[in-house]
Amino acid sequence: MRNPGRRAALVAGAWALAAPALVSPAFASPAPGATRRAPLPLIILDPGHGGRDPGAIGTGGTQEKRVALAVALELRRRLEAGGRCRVALTRTSDAFVPLLRRVEFAREREAALLLSIHADAVPREHAAQARGASVYTLAEEASDPLAAGLARRENLADRAGGLRLPSVSPEVQRILLSLMRQETRAGSERAARLAVSALERDVRLLPHPHRRAGFVVLKAPDVPAALIECGFLSHPEDEAALRRPEHRALIAARLSRAVHAFLGPRDARAEA
Ligand SMILES: [Zn+2]
Repeated sequence: MRNPGRRAALVAGAWALAAPALVSPAFASPAPGATRRAPLPLIILDPGHGGRDPGAIGTGGTQEKRVALAVALELRRRLEAGGRCRVALTRTSDAFVPLLRRVEFAREREAALLLSIHADAVPREHAAQARGASVYTLAEEASDPLAAGLARRENLADRAGGLRLPSVSPEVQRILLSLMRQETRAGSERAARLAVSALERDVRLLPHPHRRAGFVVLKAPDVPAALIECGFLSHPEDEAALRRPEHRALIAARLSRAVHAFLGPRDARAEA
């Protein structure tokens, strides 16, 4: 989303629509950036799994949770060095964080983008074929059986649950969700396209690298989100690459480029 203020305005409008009597002018619509300098957009990095949930385990014993955290920390370092956004991680240590807590973490902070970082594995019978990085966005219907299987395995890390919305009538909820989701989906798709085009220059990708499936961690209706699978730990060469700090740094560098492209041209206000 080029202008995160648009979402803030949409949400403020949604609240006004939901409960006009409760929204005083003071809270109704602080025109984003009109009088105060807007803070830098916030990017949430979400290293998958952690703690008692190791995620996928490679044939050589590499744990997905460690690869994901290492890539996320390196990406945070690069984004912070760029000075164009704020960065927060859903976990910075080997801790278990439920999937819905990750979604809430991004929503509470009105994040401009959530990138969930993973490195998955497929069952042994497919292990020789599946390799390369891929990027996922949310869809009710998975784009292909591989995507469906990955989402099923990722979602096992947690129980799926409902979204928390303002207490308004079901009809108003439906309208709000639909407006927010349209905007959010467009942002997610754009982020995924940028991630694929940034990665494809020097990182091996899975064929048809932009896929869609029902990942719980991508389900915030108001935060654009994409899930990056950095490679397959079930493939010995991918696993060996993901163990190398240089390869993880390369992935982080390409993703940092994608995030900067997502943010759009430098904001003069943010630079001042
Ligand atoms: Zn995972």
